[in-house]
Amino acid sequence: MKMEKVPFGTAADGSAVELYTLINDRGITAKITTYGARLTELHVPDRSGKVANVVLGFDNLKQYLEPEPYFGTTVGRVANRIAGGKFTLDGVEYKLPVNNGPNTLHGGIKGFDKRVWKAWPVPGVISAVRFTYASPHLEEGFPGDLSATVIYTLNNQDELVIEYLATADRATPINLTNHSYFNLAGAGNGDVLSHILMVAADHYTPVDDTLIPTGQIAPVKGTPLDFTSPTPIGQRIAQVGGYDHNYCLRGGSGVPLAARVLEKTTGRVMEAFTTQPGVQLYTGNFLDSTLKGNGGTYNKHYGFCLETQHYPDSVHHPNFPSTILRPGQTYHQVTKYRFSVE
Ligand code: BGC
Repeated sequence: MKMEKVPFGTAADGSAVELYTLINDRGITAKITTYGARLTELHVPDRSGKVANVVLGFDNLKQYLEPEPYFGTTVGRVANRIAGGKFTLDGVEYKLPVNNGPNTLHGGIKGFDKRVWKAWPVPGVISAVRFTYASPHLEEGFPGDLSATVIYTLNNQDELVIEYLATADRATPINLTNHSYFNLAGAGNGDVLSHILMVAADHYTPVDDTLIPTGQIAPVKGTPLDFTSPTPIGQRIAQVGGYDHNYCLRGGSGVPLAARVLEKTTGRVMEAFTTQPGVQLYTGNFLDSTLKGNGGTYNKHYGFCLETQHYPDSVHHPNFPSTILRPGQTYHQVTKYRFSVE
């Protein structure tokens, strides 16, 4: 196991950006940059031992600094949408910048994805790196000074473990996720429609035409959203015009299974485990050929995201699991992506 660090350029504000490489003993390599605490590459063997990068990304900082669809990034302070760009907490109304029609998406105009994080070693763990970001009171409209930590660990069980921690000095909503776009055939190597997906969820949160939940928790059974049995992603995708839906995970003790994906030609399997109550399945519906990355051109449906998180717009839905972090509490979530072959 190894960890290496190289410079990755300079952000718009002049701060130096670094790129960390984690290597396990079994042929997996992960690259993570301090710009957005984001995963830029993840090299994983197939059934014949051939290694390919399975996440969409860029090999240079310049492209991450331009508009891009949240490739590999840590999303915060609140991932997914907040209706109307406002919410009321403890009787005080907070206004947020809107950046997605009438709503706030992924923490606002300059969310955690566009911040340079600090990186630290993790004592006693070789193949891990800890990123921290201090988000001040009212940054992008959110209340409270918030300290966020994201720890990436690559272990010899072939798991990339992402652990999130946060504390704040006032009550604030928080919802951190990772926005990696996976393609188990290799980034740039076609679309993901033949990948076979299982999601451990019997329910989802239906949305309006701006992708804000109606508040209903509806069964997937009998709909094109039902992935309770392994099914090709593309089999019913035309009926929904692309997946961009939050699933209510069954959950369980420890870090339970959320989803399993198989790519048959390479045999690569990815299982996602999480402590979070939901997962947004997003099938890269808005990708187009203008995006040229480290694996070639990233067209529509060339990647899928399994964004483990709390349900979208939870601040407006008391029937959803709460996203409110209060002073004295510690926000703590774990997501693992485990790789194997069959
Ligand atoms: C959202 C999509 C959005 C995408 C941005 C996903 O998490 O659900 O609606 O277009 O992020 O890349």
